[in-house]
Amino acid sequence: MAGNVPSVDFAIIGGSGTLSSDFPKNFAGANVLADNLFFNTPYGKSPAFRLCTVADKNFLTCKMHGWRSGVTRADSSRQVFWTLRAAGVKRILSEGGVGTVNRLLNPRDLLIPDDYLDMSTRKDVQLDGRYLLIMRDALCPELRGKLLAAAKKFFTGRIFERGIYAVTDGRHFESPAEISMLNGHADIVGQSLAPEVYLAREIGACYANLSFVVNYGEGIRVWSHEVMREIFFDDARLIGNILLDAITNTAAERSCQCRELRKETLLTEIYDSKED
Ligand SMILES: [Zn+2]
Repeated sequence: MAGNVPSVDFAIIGGSGTLSSDFPKNFAGANVLADNLFFNTPYGKSPAFRLCTVADKNFLTCKMHGWRSGVTRADSSRQVFWTLRAAGVKRILSEGGVGTVNRLLNPRDLLIPDDYLDMSTRKDVQLDGRYLLIMRDALCPELRGKLLAAAKKFFTGRIFERGIYAVTDGRHFESPAEISMLNGHADIVGQSLAPEVYLAREIGACYANLSFVVNYGEGIRVWSHEVMREIFFDDARLIGNILLDAITNTAAERSCQCRELRKETLLTEIYDSKED
């Protein structure tokens, strides 16, 4: 534990899926232990965190990946992951809405990505750079399995247990030409999986993501903002329930290889080994 950051094993990085639900207030079995926790990080004051509990497991959560106006997304991500490292978090779940690239997907499909393609330009996002990050199985196989089992309990629609998430910068959506270029290389497109996936590896934590389709990629089919709005509000309880069930059924002790895929950098002339 660093400073006043509470020690927890788990974290949920909320996205658009849980935003409208005041997650995890009013979810069965979950309680908020402390609200509006802010922490001073080397990258500025953190977003508001909640310290919560479900099934005797404590976790930290924040809204919308820590994004807020006046703070760059790169700094938001570093504030979030600096805090999660200080808390000693071992396992991180995230969620968010995505667009389609794969022509077989529809709005309201759920997908648990097993790989990613980072098309964003935020290449310099790191905490201290002391590790070589090997991005094999970057989305923790063990956590993905827990998300899949939880999704099957609560959702009767289509669930895809693998897929490639293409990360773009946003905030705008993609052009038809960009979606066309991604076709064959990715299944879904969104703006939040990177840099989170490699910041998670940098702090030695497992990371997995639950994506739900809210719109067709441009040029695939015309989509309706009204449908996107309905999904945004209707599915918040579903997404929240899946995340809480996954934490309930996940041990803090790990049988995956995530920790071994982070190595001390050999580039010691460039990066010293200070923590912050
Ligand atoms: Zn893992």
